[in-house]
Amino acid sequence: MRCIGLIGGMSWESSALYYRLLNEGVKQRLGGLHSARCVLASVDFAEIEAMQSAGRWDAAGDLLAGQARGLEAAGADAVLICTNTMHKVADTVAAAIGVPLLHLADVAADAVVASGLGTVALLGTRFTMEESFYADRLVARGLTVLTPDAADRALVDRVIYTELVVGRVEDASRAAFVEVIGRLAARGAEGVILGCTEIELLVGPGDVDLPVFATTRLHAQAAVDFALS
Ligand code: GLU
Repeated sequence: MRCIGLIGGMSWESSALYYRLLNEGVKQRLGGLHSARCVLASVDFAEIEAMQSAGRWDAAGDLLAGQARGLEAAGADAVLICTNTMHKVADTVAAAIGVPLLHLADVAADAVVASGLGTVALLGTRFTMEESFYADRLVARGLTVLTPDAADRALVDRVIYTELVVGRVEDASRAAFVEVIGRLAARGAEGVILGCTEIELLVGPGDVDLPVFATTRLHAQAAVDFALS
């Protein structure tokens, strides 16, 4: 089994889910007492969020690149950045290591394309929804990407940073997200990418009518496939 390197802590609420899903995935495939070989580099999210808000993306990229180098030195055969948002610095991280970076937007795109859908909604932080670093990779796979309107983007971003990353899962926010997704469906979205690794702690396939692409689950699955390939 190959070893998976995780850059986590962004937030640790979703990193904990990654760890569970990796181990469950390996257990499901190999049975018995098998579990995932992995190493985790977990950063202080307060430091990362401060860099995001200040637009200090070069510093954030350097920080994550250092974590990735540490994972490679610790034996990782591939590295995952366990947040959609920080894929804004994915090129810097990938350039720092000699093992593959399993890019989350590509994993999400593969899943949507495999499902046969063409138009997909993208929920995530304001960075993920409003900048091109993530959506461009979906568009490159032939997908049409819809994002919420400004008011809904603000709502989604606020719930992520003030509730989900600190472990608050509120029924009212779930209801609000379901409404946001409903408005995107009315605009033509055939499926929705939960493009923030904490959103699936709040919303699941049972909450909405259209297909849900949960990025933490998909990323962990891709890592299991890589580990066992
Ligand atoms: N985990 C989130 C994501 O997937 C947000 C936290 C962050 O800003 O990295 O984008």
